[in-house]
Amino acid sequence: MTPSGTLFTNARLQDGGLHDIAVSNGRIDAIAPAGSAVKTADIVDIGGALLVPGFVEGHIHLDTSFYGDKWIPHKPCTDGFDVHERVAFQAENMAGAAPMAERARNQLDLCIANGSLQMRSHVMVDGSVGLTSLETILEVREAYRHLIDIQLVAFPQSGILKSPGTLELMDEAVAMGADLVGGLDPLSFDRDIKGHLDVIFGIAEKRGVDIDIHLHDAGSLGAMTIEDICARTVALGMQGHVAVSHAYGLGDLAPDAARRIAALIAKSGVSIMTNAPGNHNFPPVALLRDAGVNVFSGSDNIRDSWWPFGDGDMLHRAEIIAYRSGFYTDPALVSAFDVVTAAGARALRLEGYGIAVGAKADFVALSAEHVPEAVVAFPKPRRVFKAGRLVAENGAVLR
Ligand SMILES: [Zn+2]
Repeated sequence: MTPSGTLFTNARLQDGGLHDIAVSNGRIDAIAPAGSAVKTADIVDIGGALLVPGFVEGHIHLDTSFYGDKWIPHKPCTDGFDVHERVAFQAENMAGAAPMAERARNQLDLCIANGSLQMRSHVMVDGSVGLTSLETILEVREAYRHLIDIQLVAFPQSGILKSPGTLELMDEAVAMGADLVGGLDPLSFDRDIKGHLDVIFGIAEKRGVDIDIHLHDAGSLGAMTIEDICARTVALGMQGHVAVSHAYGLGDLAPDAARRIAALIAKSGVSIMTNAPGNHNFPPVALLRDAGVNVFSGSDNIRDSWWPFGDGDMLHRAEIIAYRSGFYTDPALVSAFDVVTAAGARALRLEGYGIAVGAKADFVALSAEHVPEAVVAFPKPRRVFKAGRLVAENGAVLR
């Protein structure tokens, strides 16, 4: 290793053994049994803690959280859940909130302190806010570049066809620096699956970007939309470049129907994001994974107009997924961990992810013996390293 490097000693890896990890220029140069590596001037003793890759926060909304601002009591919809009404409540709440950049920074600090070093955030783009939210979040992303890698999705929160000008705004959003095109319930929101998907896939094809679509539609409505998304993905050769977030409908299907569509999703290389929310059916994680579907996760909303929950902790998210999925065995708990780490890296197409020679030195040291224990206990004392540099400990980002 180079003299400028750092040696991380006594790190417990997922094989259970203690290792020394040599890092230089932000990358892992070598991994050797503890005590066998050449000592350098710069040594960080991991002290036998479990060292895991930085978590992948695969779905969050940096523009709409009130985390760190005043508490905003949740307002229920007047006649059952209604996305349009929730969007209106959100606009009211945001008008009286702290500046968006401040709220986004609060949320990022929370996520980084918990060990997320890679993120995908949806940012609202519609006729009412135009591109102003994206402009703000792009600036915040720049300020946090040394702490966390962030992908931004141009998210049509008010629909595309129902919100005049949104098509042009989304296209412009990508030109400005958004990394992906988003979507929202093509059937139930815009009432035009073809028109909605034409826009999304059209921009993606023209600009050469990936796609991540919010799909809350239940049962066959959701399943039908997923089938169309899969067909377009294959037709355009976009396997591995498309994600469907939430996909609640998959949780409503009988096992046979779920297995059939799971095979189609796997073949199409479409990733499914779930945060296993408490009051919804959600995708059958084990069934999907068994079929070869890439399932990843995110916090989604944190203390916003949609719900008061969220702690920015993807290890806790793995516990929620495991708990709601009935995962008890060690292999099942490890699979929940995979959802918030390696599967997220696949969905986000991250280069150099993981604890391996040549990978980025982005990792988290945890007080746990092994991954199954980490998932059930989600221990809070954590040391978070980005590019081999300590960026957070004891729940706070270091500056
Ligand atoms: Zn979302």
